[in-house]
Amino acid sequence: MTATPNRGTTRTNALRTFEQSRKQIERNSKWMPGGVSSNFRLNIAPTPLVFERGEGAILVDADGNELIDYYLGMGPMILGHKPPALCEAVTKQLEKGILFAGQTEIEAEAARLVCERVPCAEQVRFNTSGSEAIQAALRIARAATGRSRIVKFEGHYHGWFDNVLWSVAPSLADAGDGDAPTRVPASTGQLPEAGDALDVLPWNDLALLEARLARGDVAAVIMEPAMCNAGAIAPGEGYLEGVRAACSASGTILIFDEVITGFRLAAGGAQERFNVTPDLATFGKAIANGFAVAAVAGRSDLMELCVKGVLHGGTYNSQPISMAATVATLRSLTPELYARIAGQGDALQQGFKEIFSRRQVTASVTGFGQFVHVGFGLERPARNYRDLLGIDKPAYVEFCQALLARGVRALERGAWFLSSEHDAAVIARTLDAADDAVRALKESGRL
Ligand code: PMP
Repeated sequence: MTATPNRGTTRTNALRTFEQSRKQIERNSKWMPGGVSSNFRLNIAPTPLVFERGEGAILVDADGNELIDYYLGMGPMILGHKPPALCEAVTKQLEKGILFAGQTEIEAEAARLVCERVPCAEQVRFNTSGSEAIQAALRIARAATGRSRIVKFEGHYHGWFDNVLWSVAPSLADAGDGDAPTRVPASTGQLPEAGDALDVLPWNDLALLEARLARGDVAAVIMEPAMCNAGAIAPGEGYLEGVRAACSASGTILIFDEVITGFRLAAGGAQERFNVTPDLATFGKAIANGFAVAAVAGRSDLMELCVKGVLHGGTYNSQPISMAATVATLRSLTPELYARIAGQGDALQQGFKEIFSRRQVTASVTGFGQFVHVGFGLERPARNYRDLLGIDKPAYVEFCQALLARGVRALERGAWFLSSEHDAAVIARTLDAADDAVRALKESGRL
């Protein structure tokens, strides 16, 4: 990358500022509410950022700051920003045209690669966002079972549509009894009736789910098979196996929402990593390294319902340029690459643990190699959403601001996404910044 005015070491005398971003967000707020195009980009301290470009693990913002990026587009950029092989494939495809409302060979190749890698995937249909793919999966499950009810879990996120945007991040005051959580909407304007067919349960509690499914009226259980939105929580010993058995016994479709875990935790996602195969799974994010691709995949008898009454649509589904990106991404994601990224994620985890222990910060550091989570204030790793409510969010936001000033961009929700470009040198710079950020916060009494 070229040298920039704000480039420097991670020491306090080189703290970055974000005035250009702040000004541009303020100006752009005239045309876009909040100056952004997604609510998940709002309310970020000290300001939502405006970016110029990115390469590898680095983003350059409107102030010329070079930032080590752990947002990675909220997860997709597993090969880093602007990977050469993907850019070449996309550019070549663009020369052939943009959108045909018809099929292409590149789309068939993308489908073949997904089916080859994902254990549950006998067939696949593409969409352009995870939220949509989840709607397709729910519709297929309802058509297959003739039932309406869906079970989801507290703290799991399945997109922003009315029928699933419940109990995503409820406050303790709203959430009710831990064993029988209250269904809490996450947005104003959400159709109240859209939640009527939804039951919310605590995750990682098999007995409660078994009891619910035994009533025989649930079309589908949907879950993040490893919790990544609210924290980084692995399924308990035998939990996924138990869920699988309870779904099979009650004729319930098991849906793994692998929008984050898919093509990130392993080539075959969490279902490969934890060796439990759902009936259907949804994908997005890392499937195409930043292009708008999502997918619903699963058993062919279920997927075939898409030609027997289930309507699945989308103008931009399997858009050829995005499909070229999918093929290039999936071909790049070799077992060696997953191992390398996991190694760097483990190094990041170990480094955090060492810093927090040496500087006496109470924090849980958990993860799955290619994904890491830090929870300030937690004495031990969380097992479910309720445990995560103990996180000291204001202190962590301070930490993120201090990191940003030192050239590291990390999500305020505690998540750290790794890419192949986060090599040992990048991790070392990150840990250097984290150590200095904690030192500064401790010295000023903010941590
Ligand atoms: N499911 C999960 C597990 C997710 O993390 C997300 C996005 N963060 C979605 C679904 C929704 O995907 P999209 O934003 O592409 O609609």
